[in-house]
Amino acid sequence: MPEQTKYVLSESEMPEAWYNIQADLPFDLPPVLHPGTKQPVGPADLAPLFPMELIKQEVSKERWIEIPKPVLDVYTIWRPSPLYRAHRLEKALQTPAKIFYKYEGGSPAGSHKPNTAVAQAFYNKEAGTKRIATETGAGQWGSALAFACQMFGIECKVYMVRTSYDQKPYRRNLMETWGAKVVASPSMDTNAGRTMLAQDPNCYGSLGLAISEAVEDVVTNPTPSKYALGSVLGHVLLHQTIVGLETIKQLELADAEADVLVASVGGGSNFAGLTFPFLPAKFKDPTSKLRVVAIEPAAAPSLTRGVYAYDFGDLSMMTPLIKMYTLGHGFMPAPIHAGGLRYHGMASAICELYRHGYIEARAVNQKATFEAGVLFARTEGILPAPESAHAIRGAIDEALKCREEGIGRTIVFNLSGHGHFDLTSYEKYMNGKIEDYVLPEEEIKKAQEALPII
Ligand SMILES: *Cc1c(COP(=O)(O)O)cnc(C)c1O
Repeated sequence: MPEQTKYVLSESEMPEAWYNIQADLPFDLPPVLHPGTKQPVGPADLAPLFPMELIKQEVSKERWIEIPKPVLDVYTIWRPSPLYRAHRLEKALQTPAKIFYKYEGGSPAGSHKPNTAVAQAFYNKEAGTKRIATETGAGQWGSALAFACQMFGIECKVYMVRTSYDQKPYRRNLMETWGAKVVASPSMDTNAGRTMLAQDPNCYGSLGLAISEAVEDVVTNPTPSKYALGSVLGHVLLHQTIVGLETIKQLELADAEADVLVASVGGGSNFAGLTFPFLPAKFKDPTSKLRVVAIEPAAAPSLTRGVYAYDFGDLSMMTPLIKMYTLGHGFMPAPIHAGGLRYHGMASAICELYRHGYIEARAVNQKATFEAGVLFARTEGILPAPESAHAIRGAIDEALKCREEGIGRTIVFNLSGHGHFDLTSYEKYMNGKIEDYVLPEEEIKKAQEALPII
């Protein structure tokens, strides 16, 4: 018998409820504030953007939220997803650590994002939404939503950040194949886009700006439209917890217990998805040895270098104010290849967990992440998305620490997606054209001067 590599669950073992961390958090989350009145937002403020079921999930304190049957049915296309033991990577690193990774790249869109896109499309369909507009950075969220909208018969419009639109034409083709309409952001379709293009016709765009365009589109379009966000919000994090819930069952199959959990963070959803179901153990037992590590790019280091303050989720100051570690809503990140990690802020629950010391964060450089991604592809075979390569970098660093210390810890990371649409980036790396961008301190100061006064 070869050593076991994959730990797989049958469809009947798929979790039937998402885990809501709000039931167990040992602290309250700061209220989300209305951008005009600066008072806590109520359901009525969010109703123009989201269907009521999702708004309810945003504030629910129920520990388990049942996954609707039609959502489970679509999930079976790729779920349960496999948990792998990285035997070959361990060997290459000569580490006594056991490394496991949960692979979310087997979904139709190639990442974890359909876990929430499918749920959001379903609740919108139930609420009578005919059309959804959204933004996409690397193209991952846009493709996930385009796929999900196609599953439930909803129109989809995607504002795609200009850098990715140029770097990843195939992502656009994929979205269009699933029936979505895609424009580069900044676009001429909204006031927010036209204003930016007037200032800077060559603007790279940013997730914050694309969010502004999508939100403006939704509130002005004559067809009943709603907005959908691929990360940051509580309901998105909730839908991703199926990842961690499956992982817990699969680690039991492997007779292993996690010592270190690692995931990359953009807005925080894949990190939350893997790690939140493990956290009650830490809440109950503060001496628990489990470490939970978020990995962010040095070019957009919101947790490790951002300021903890109320800030807008977007550039045009239209979204509610969220208390978070932020680089400032005006932050224009360097065009690093992990487009999905270029966001200026972070999900509220993750910021609070960080502030209270339940999780750790580390920033890593772009070249070192590609180096890790290539080593992973050459040992494990799977080509990781540049975003996921951040988690690989984090896991490898933990495994190297195990080697130095001679301790065989169990490291589990989230391989959030494959990199088949990121080959231009790998080509650049192979040709020695990938640069490190470390955000200069004065840029952080400048961006923070524009924070709203609460
Ligand atoms: C979007 C994305 C991320 C980062 O976003 P989170 O909301 O932090 O999960 C990470 N990996 C992949 C493959 C992505 O598509």
